[in-house]
Amino acid sequence: MKRVLHLLVILLAITARAAGQGPTPPVYVTLWFDTEDYILPQDDDAAKRLAEMLTSLGVRATFKVVGEKARVLESRGRTDVIAALKRHDIGYHSNTHSQQPTIAVYLQNAGWEDGRAEFFRREAQGARDVQRIFGVTPVAYGQPGSAWAPQAYPALREMGIGMYLDEADHVGIDDQPFFYGGMLNVFKMRSNLARMDLRGGTSLAEGKARFTKSYDALRAKGGGTISIYYHPNEWVHTQFWDAVNFSRGANPPREEWKLPGTRPAAETEQAFQDFEQYVRFMKALPGVRFVTATELMKIYDDKALTRNFRRDDILGLARAVQKEITFQRFDGYALSAADEFSLLNSAMTAAAERNEPPAEIKIARLDGPARTYTASAGGKPSSTYPRSAFVRAVKDVADFSRATGRMPDEVWIGSESLSPADYVATMGKALEDALTTGKLPAEIVRQAGQFTADRNVAADSPALWGWVIFPEGFHAPHIMELARLQAWTLKPAVLQR
Ligand SMILES: [Zn+2]
Repeated sequence: MKRVLHLLVILLAITARAAGQGPTPPVYVTLWFDTEDYILPQDDDAAKRLAEMLTSLGVRATFKVVGEKARVLESRGRTDVIAALKRHDIGYHSNTHSQQPTIAVYLQNAGWEDGRAEFFRREAQGARDVQRIFGVTPVAYGQPGSAWAPQAYPALREMGIGMYLDEADHVGIDDQPFFYGGMLNVFKMRSNLARMDLRGGTSLAEGKARFTKSYDALRAKGGGTISIYYHPNEWVHTQFWDAVNFSRGANPPREEWKLPGTRPAAETEQAFQDFEQYVRFMKALPGVRFVTATELMKIYDDKALTRNFRRDDILGLARAVQKEITFQRFDGYALSAADEFSLLNSAMTAAAERNEPPAEIKIARLDGPARTYTASAGGKPSSTYPRSAFVRAVKDVADFSRATGRMPDEVWIGSESLSPADYVATMGKALEDALTTGKLPAEIVRQAGQFTADRNVAADSPALWGWVIFPEGFHAPHIMELARLQAWTLKPAVLQR
């Protein structure tokens, strides 16, 4: 009897637990390899072994390949390595990675349009070579070292690359995936970046503990993503191939490149074995699903871009932007400040043309402004604008956005200009009036806008650019200024179930 009671208690406990828990919160694990060492030949075999090991474990990863690495694999006749990597997602990791000048160095004084064109000129060939050699368009990109720059985004989109997959501290939201520059980003994941060391000993135990900490935290929040990165060369070298040759701005010719040192075979073997145990451990945890870049783009599909926005949505936005201009989370989607800009400008156009609230509006995805606003010279700014003058400005903004794919740097109302933030807040007030009274006011009252999404962009400092390949003391204030302007495009990525 006692035993039966005991069983009953256990059964009740199990049932209660199952009922209370609901579906298991998913923990997506994205495992990516920067496949970049085109100097040490042993790296080819390390990459192949990792790709084959993961395939045999039923795990798909993302291999971000450097253009020069792809060309070297081709010239060494390593079709076996290429075939093994192709079982996974293929990404892109710059054309030559660490040869000088690196990306952030050559873009440090560039503007938006010229920087985008220069990134494309220097980097597109590598993406084309990866595509030719692997037979697929790279799905994701990540910068070499911390050589990040916002001008890369429009150029990458032009190359057909859909996602930014890397780790550094320039921009991010809450250590989870986000949208920025018109792409899904898995970047600045910090507390959700898990990496087991490859030095044997306690590495595996510590790696499991670190993963478990992120895993538990994400499950408690209802799920999320963990990012894990490696370089195949870490299994075989004693020092990075590029640190050996290109440290602190060094620029030796190819014939003077040195091979990095190699680890003893037993150490390499231990590192492979630990890594296999690490992957098996993660895979066995409830809710864990390994995902590639392609899968992440589906899991975090941006539902805002296909949504029809109606009167009440617009009224809510019109009110919100008068207080603060930043990204907003809703049920199943999020809006960036640029999305809000696009929706309000379209609503304003419709209100001006038909003098009635719009039935349905869709977002036109835009990049942020290209330069920081400077007040126009001469005269005294008006505090109100005649409706007709404001409506002409709204239509001009719509035309500019269609023509350039980005937000304007300033909005002209006659000979006066408004900053993008003041313009959005001013539209917000006018639209709120129009939607609540049924018509646009005769005088549009100028409002001061507070744009705050750029709080999520790091301040420039030498620490942000702490890559050994950069010249000593390198930093890039202008790159970070452009990064803050592109914070108009920033918003959290929402998990789609
Ligand atoms: Zn790299």
